[in-house]
Amino acid sequence: MNHFLVLLISALYGVLLGNYLTTAYHRIPLAKPINGISKNKGLKPHCATCKHELKYWEYFPVLSWIFSKQQCNYCGAQVDKMYTMLEVSMMLISVSLFILMGMNLQYVFITLFMATVLLLIALYISHHRFYFKSVCFVLISAVIYIVIGSYGFT
Ligand SMILES: [Zn+2]
Repeated sequence: MNHFLVLLISALYGVLLGNYLTTAYHRIPLAKPINGISKNKGLKPHCATCKHELKYWEYFPVLSWIFSKQQCNYCGAQVDKMYTMLEVSMMLISVSLFILMGMNLQYVFITLFMATVLLLIALYISHHRFYFKSVCFVLISAVIYIVIGSYGFT
């Protein structure tokens, strides 16, 4: 596969993981559900201030940077700068790991593990505490990596 295309896929993987981290980063301290795919279960992406449900271009990385300009399109509230920081950091981490390791299962899991560590750090910076769910993310991703690694898949 074209090297540039794979690099682009790793950037997309990182920015999407970073986007999910923003949801977990916002919702874990509020004890809200951290899934939002189904209408019946979970919670759709919404503005933290006015609670208006967001359209995909208002929360999807890169598109939201262009169309929302760091503020809510409905109430004008500033978007937490940590959101962009998480998305950009995860994109850079993902691309860096891809350059170091190539595209393989080990890369996928180490990037996932780094995402959970980044979430833990971001939550600690903002709230000065460790949340049980974020610590669980790190431990579960570490266990998955160890189990997968022990079977020689990495
Ligand atoms: Zn709003």
